[in-house]
Order: sequence, then C-alpha cells, then structure tokens
Amino acid sequence: MTNVGLVVVSHSAPLAAAARDLALDMGRNAVIVAAGGTGGDGFGTNAELIASAIEEADSGAGVVVLVDLGSAVMSTEMALEFVDPDLAERTIVAPAPLVEGLVVAAVAASAGADREAVAREAMGALASKQSDIPFDPATADSPDGLSGAASSDVAASGAAATAAPPDTTDDREWHSRRFVVDDPAGLHARPAGALVAAVAPYDADVRVYHELAGRGPVLARSMTSLISLGVQEGDEILVQATGPDAQAALDAVGDLAARGWLAEGESKPETTIPAHMRSPGSGLEIAVGPALVWRVVPREEVRQTTENQMEAYLEARETVRAYLSSLGTDPILTLQVGLLDDPAYASRIISSIEAGNPAEVAVRAATSNTVADYQELPTEYLRERSEDVSALGELLVQALHGIPLGGLATAIRDFGRDPIVVLDSLTPALASEIDAARVIGILAATGSSTGHGALIASAKGIPVIAGKDIARKINDGEEIALEPRSGIVTVNPTREQLRELLRASKEQARLDEVARAHAHEPAIFAGRQIYVRANVATTDDARLGAENGADGSGLVRTEVLFADWEHLPSIDEQVAIFSAITQALGADKQVIIRTWDVGADKPVAFFESNHEENPFLGVRGIRLMRKFSQALIDQFRAIIRVAQHADVRVMIPMVTNVSEVVWARRMFNEAVQAEGRPDELPMFGMMLETPAALLNVKAFDEKVDFFSVGTNDLIQYMAAADRGNADVEDISAEVIPLVVDLIADAARLLDSPLGVCGDLASSEEHVPQLIRAGVASLSVRPGLVPRIKQAIRHIP
Ligand code: PEP
Ligand code: MG
Repeated sequence: MTNVGLVVVSHSAPLAAAARDLALDMGRNAVIVAAGGTGGDGFGTNAELIASAIEEADSGAGVVVLVDLGSAVMSTEMALEFVDPDLAERTIVAPAPLVEGLVVAAVAASAGADREAVAREAMGALASKQSDIPFDPATADSPDGLSGAASSDVAASGAAATAAPPDTTDDREWHSRRFVVDDPAGLHARPAGALVAAVAPYDADVRVYHELAGRGPVLARSMTSLISLGVQEGDEILVQATGPDAQAALDAVGDLAARGWLAEGESKPETTIPAHMRSPGSGLEIAVGPALVWRVVPREEVRQTTENQMEAYLEARETVRAYLSSLGTDPILTLQVGLLDDPAYASRIISSIEAGNPAEVAVRAATSNTVADYQELPTEYLRERSEDVSALGELLVQALHGIPLGGLATAIRDFGRDPIVVLDSLTPALASEIDAARVIGILAATGSSTGHGALIASAKGIPVIAGKDIARKINDGEEIALEPRSGIVTVNPTREQLRELLRASKEQARLDEVARAHAHEPAIFAGRQIYVRANVATTDDARLGAENGADGSGLVRTEVLFADWEHLPSIDEQVAIFSAITQALGADKQVIIRTWDVGADKPVAFFESNHEENPFLGVRGIRLMRKFSQALIDQFRAIIRVAQHADVRVMIPMVTNVSEVVWARRMFNEAVQAEGRPDELPMFGMMLETPAALLNVKAFDEKVDFFSVGTNDLIQYMAAADRGNADVEDISAEVIPLVVDLIADAARLLDSPLGVCGDLASSEEHVPQLIRAGVASLSVRPGLVPRIKQAIRHIP
C-alpha cells in the first residue's frame, strides 16, 4: 500500500523539522518531508526546496502540503510550477493549522487514507482544541475586533472539515462491542490516533458512538472525528464494524483498550513536572508522577517456590555475577566475582546444600566461615577484605529471595523517569537510602506521617504520605498525585484534577518563595527571638537546614544517623560525623545531640534488644542504655569532644522518672572524667515525651539545663494511639489541644527553657498555639524552617 506523503513548509527550518518529528511520533508510518527555511540562515521559504520535498514525499498516492503563513503559500504555489504536472495534480495544499493539522494528517496518512481524506482531517484539526478551550468571541478582550472574528471563522471551517458521518441507514450486518476509555485525558489525540492505526490494517468499516453524550457515529478512521466525540476518562464508547475483517478490527480495538489506549510499543508520554512540584522541597509539596512499585518478596513465598535448592543457588550466583560485572572493574568487584567461584567458598556452599541444607542457610554458613578465615590473615588489608565476603554473601541471599540487587536506589536509577516510590512500609533504613533528588514522592501502605521512616524522608524534602492501603493496589507506571498536607492520594488524576492540583501547588510555591526570601532573618514574636532549628538525621539534613536558614539543630537523631552501621561507632567515628553536622549548620549555631534512642521502630544492629510484645512500651531510649552504659559514656565523650570547638548540647530521650536522669548524669560525669575534665562542657537536657515526665516536670527542673518536648511520642502515649498506625491518627489529633495545654502549664512552672522538637513544631497550624504557650524554640523539618519562621512572625 502506498501512502499519501506530507510536506511541511515553514519560515523556520527548525520549526518544520520539529513539527515533522512530533507528527511522526503519532503517525509512525507517515512519510513527512520538512521544507523549512530558505536553505541558508534566517527565516523564509524557498520554492525549490519545497518542490524537491514534494517529489521526495510522493510515492504515487499524492502529497498533502501544510504551510505556515504569508509567503509560504506563494512559495508552495511556485513549487507546484516546478514539479511534474501529474505530481502537481496529485498535490493538495491544505489551508489547515500547521502543527495540529500535520499531526492528524500523519495519523490519517499512516492509516492509508486517500489525499482528500488526509487534507480534510488536517483542516478539522482545531475542532477538539476549540471545544476544550472555552472562548466566547463576543466577550473576549479584542480591541480591534480581529481575534474574535478570526476564531469563529476557524471554528466554522474546523467543524465543517471533520469527516462526513457514516451512513446510519446502512443495513449491512454490524458487529458491536463496548469499551471504556480509561486514559486520564479521555479519547484525546494520542489514543484517537492509536485507534485509527489499530483498525487501519483491516478490511472493515468501523464506526464509533459516544452514546451517553448522544454523539456519533463517526468513522474510526478519522482522528478528528473521534476527538469530536468528546469522550472523557471513564466514558464508554460503542464500536461497530462491518465487512470481511469486522471481528478482527474489533479485536484490535479490544487489544488497544487492554494496553491502556497506547499504540503498540508506545509508552506513556512523559509529563514534565513543574519545578515547584519536585523534591527536594519542604516535604509537603504536592507531587505528581509515575509509580515505582517496590515490593520485597516475602521469605515464605520464596521458600515455597524454590524446590531445587542447588538450582536456586546456581541461578542466584549467576545473577550476582551479572550484577557485579555491570558495576565496572573496581578491584574489589573483581575480587568478589572471583570469590563466587573460589573453591573454598563455593564448595562450602555446594557441599552444605548437598548435605540437605536450604540454599540460604548454606550461603550464610559458608560466608561466616570464610569471613572467619579472612580475619586470621596476616595483614590488615587482607583482614579488611572479610567485609567484601560478607557483602557478597548478602548479595547471594538477596538474589535467592528474588530481591533486585543494588536495592531501591538502583531500581530508582533504572526506572527511566523520576518516580513516586510506592511501598508497603517505609522503614528508617529505606528512607535513608532514597535520594531526594531522584524521586518525586513516596507513598507507603502502612505507617503514618509521624512514623520515623516518614519523618526521615520528609526531612530530606521528599513529599510522603504513609498509611494508605491504596498503595497496595497501584501498578508500576500508573500516574499518582500526593497531597501531603491533606493526605489525599489520587490515582490516575483526570485533567480537571491535575489543573486543580497545579493551581494549589502554585499557591504553596508562592508562599514558600515569600518565606524563603526571609529564611535567614530571625523569627521574632512579641519582641523576643524564637529559635527555629532543624531536625537532623543525616548530614544532608544539616546542609538542607543551613540552606533554609535554620538557627542550628534542636534534635540530632543519632540512632538514625548510624542506622545502617554494623558496628557500634567508635568515639572518633562519632566525633567526625557530629563535627560534620555542626560545620554544615554553621560555627555559631547551637546543635542539640540526642543520645541513642534505640528500640521499637528504630532498631540498630549494634545494640541487641530482647523480643518484646509491645516494644513502644518496652525497653527503649534511655531505658535500653542502662544495659549498654559504656556505649552511652562513649557517646557522651564524643559529644564533649565536639563541644570543645562547637556550640553543642546533649539531650537524653524517653525519660519517665527522675532516677533515670540521675543515672544518666552519673554516666555523663564519668565521661567528663574520662575526657580529662575539659573546660567546655555541653549543657545537659532531657526530652519530655512521656506523660509521666511532663506531668511531673518540676521534679526534673533542677536536674537538667533544658527541656525539649517530643510530641510524636508524647501524643501517642497520651492518646494510647500508635504513632505508626494511620487508622488511629484521628484519635491522636484529638488530644493535641490537651497536649498544648500541658506544655503551657510546664512552661509556666519551669525555670529552664522549654523547646519542642516533635513534629507538632512543623505544623503551621499549631505553631501559634505553642509559641503562645511559652515555648522558646522549635526544631522542625529542615525544609520547613522558612515557613515556620514566617508563621511565628504572623502570630496575631
Ligand atoms: C518525639 O517523640 O517527638 C521525638 C522528637 O522523638 P522521635 O520522633 O525520634 O521518637
Ligand atoms: Mg520520641
């Protein structure tokens, strides 16, 4: 079949070429020749260039030429004088809009339409835009009266140009099927083009109705007619076909609907996210993007499906080999690849499996035996290689479980677009792994907005919504919208919803911009400065806080900082990281370092805790440190060392009674002793996050130098509502006024200053109440510092 050729004539060569490329994206089999510009620099048209384009485009079926304006028409007329008269006879110059006309003409030509039909399609190309964009020429602002008149003329010609409706009195046998159009934009250009292409190869007449709207039938071979049906997302269309291939044509439409109205091999077009909808921001931005669904295969499932353990191991080994080889030629990687086949290592695994052990058990045992061998080696360098053996063992175990190697970070990198990560549970470790510059947002099925994973991710400036069951029903690549302020999740938003989201997001971006302009100025309320500091769980948080004008940090979560460490960090290792944080925040800024707050949903590998039925009410925070007093002393020592050159303070978490503070101070004094009683000692504070401590606050006043309220835990204990469970979030919200009253009572009673570092301090709604309650400082999500400062300045 020879198709009609197309020529695009424009005063601009790049414009003609770009219009051609755009049209080819939808009309893939079309022949389109660009004849833009004069052939030299500058704008203009060239009759010779157009003539040779017409000759190139023709393959016997004729040519349709689309032109931009003015001399383009004249040059094309001249060009027709240059070409063979037969070819001139087969050429139509269509008075159609250049870009829209070319796109629909390409689809029609691709589908084998004749040149009159192609030209007619092109001329009707504006109809859909005119029905989409309301414009009333009578009321439009048009001082010279021109734009209104021009527009209505085009509308009239557009309507007249759509393909003639099929004859409904036709009494041939018609086969019918109904399909729902689930594309968010309805049957717009792309799906309509795909429908034309889907039925094109078949010897059948196909017509389409939009019954609900009383529109149709229209010919399925006319893209503009299909668009004119005005089919919206979720609408049903009736497709009828007649002729020898009628069933095949309907099947092709069925396949198209099943592919989500995407042409074969086509992937969803990218939507560019406006800058204000991208992370990293404050973590509360509206986010719209494609879903990357991250699901880890549960152990049980893998065990059941892996019958042949040897086969599973050999397969996992090849997966690891391919993965390591893809990472490059670093000597460590080469060593690991070599180790995969190393007789001492591999044969240990194989003989263990042969002895009847599951592959995972065999890998773990062989790894720890090989690690032990390496640790016996004579040089430090060789001993250190035992870490590479452990890492290799972990990779093998992951591959056995079907977990993508390289983890979530690699999956994000390989996704192709910046995604919204959708997962079951956002653990603190996963949250730390996610690179804020590469994701648009995170949606988790479990947890809540004050769970640690969510707090860490939003502190990095990533919009997060947690505790939404819908996350389990989302498929890879589906478009989703997150509104973290209200917690609303929309899957496949309609055009109308997108418009509304964009509008709301722009308004938030405007407020952010105003706040950022004053971020580095102090926040003053009633003549006194309220310090607004940043919560820090990574060194990046500290940098983000500094960029956003934070007055230091009111909470460094040390257990999250070292969450992925295998060993307890030494004093020096802690000093290095604490110093990096103080430097990032600025030499003159106050930084409050909280001692290990391990337990419940913040486990670390280097402090073993017993299994507990109810870990949030168990041995966590300062309670756990009683078992690891040396580790606490060492952490105090690290903080004391940093205090010699920076303004740091120390704070203990999860205090319930005075004896815990007395004990912790004793440990602190031991640390002071061990450090040789230096001159500069950090002030000593405690968190108020259990109701018992808050209600008995006066008893602690003489024992500490300052207080900081942890509203996340305090609220969960006051309301008896798990902070990580979205189903009881409402109950938590109801106790907030009570908590604010208690904070006000405490502030009145205390001589020592009182701050708030729980997430309530990051709420613009509650900040005025906290400040009026007498709170002297706040520590908030790093990206929110400017907005919280602004909220303080505007307290009436
Ligand atoms: C709190 O409980 O409010 C708090 C700041 O500590 P964390 O969130 O780390 O438990
Ligand atoms: Mg807490």
